[in-house]
Formats: sequence, C-alpha cells, structure tokens
Amino acid sequence: MILDLRELFSGKKQQVPVSVQIDMSDFEQAGVHPLQKVQFNGMLKSTADVVSLSGQAEYDYAAPCDRCAEMTVRHFVLPVEHVITQSVAGEDNEDYIVVENLQLPLDDVLTTDIILSLPFQFLCSEDCKGICAGCGKNLNRETCVCKKEPDPRLAKLNEFFD
Ligand SMILES: [Zn+2]
Ligand SMILES: [Zn+2]
Repeated sequence: MILDLRELFSGKKQQVPVSVQIDMSDFEQAGVHPLQKVQFNGMLKSTADVVSLSGQAEYDYAAPCDRCAEMTVRHFVLPVEHVITQSVAGEDNEDYIVVENLQLPLDDVLTTDIILSLPFQFLCSEDCKGICAGCGKNLNRETCVCKKEPDPRLAKLNEFFD
C-alpha cells in the first residue's frame, strides 16, 4: 500500500489515521512461512517539515520451537515509529525515511520492521527441555528412555538399600 503524504507535508492535514492489513504469508524463514496477516494501526502526523508515523503492528508468528521442534504460535505487538522527510539535508540519518514524490510505501516499511524484529531464538517456552539426542523423545512431555550407564556410586547405594 502506497500512502500519499502530500496533504500532510503541505500542512493541509494535521493527522491521518492509518489502519491496514498486510499479507506476509510469502515470507519464508528456515523453511517455514511463520507469518500470515499483519494488522497495523497507527497515525501519520504532520509536524514542522516532517511527518511522523507511529502505531503498532500485530501478528501471529508460527514456527517450530528451536529446541523441541513443537509447532508454536506466539502473538507479537510491535511498536512502529518513523520520521518521514522529503530530504535529509547533509545528514546521514537512518532513523529517517526519505520519501520520493511524497509517497510512502507502507507495506515495505512495515515488512522490513517486522523482519528485523523477529526473534533470534524461538522457543515454545523459556524452559523448554528440548529433545533427547539419544532417544529422540520430547523431554517436555516424555521421559528419556536411553539406557544409562549405571553410576557405580548409585549401584552401591542401591545394594545398601536392598
Ligand atoms: Zn520447545
Ligand atoms: Zn534419551
């Protein structure tokens, strides 16, 4: 979606609410498509000679847990803040979005923000026990059935109690 910012930059409009839904189901990460619909609600505001965009993007992220591979869905709410300018005179400021022809490619801006914010490690829970490398059991739900070498000290102890 391309937003026309002419009326905001000219001061004809002070603010414009923005509510869009974008489809990110094409985005692929580690062989899965973790995103579907993204809902963005925000506001464009005209301030001095810049336009600010603020709001929040909400989406579900669905991917296998990095430890136990269990499919996990988590809801994310991402704050979005940008300053949009017609030109950054002399300054190299990456916080600014420079818009050519006063058109803001909102989908691209939001897509980039979301991809940059995606979790580096995605777990079903903070204390996920993962999968046993020996027997392949999901240790969150099942008990490891690997044959353990009996601990000689424990064997002694068991003898004592027998
Ligand atoms: Zn897990
Ligand atoms: Zn095991």
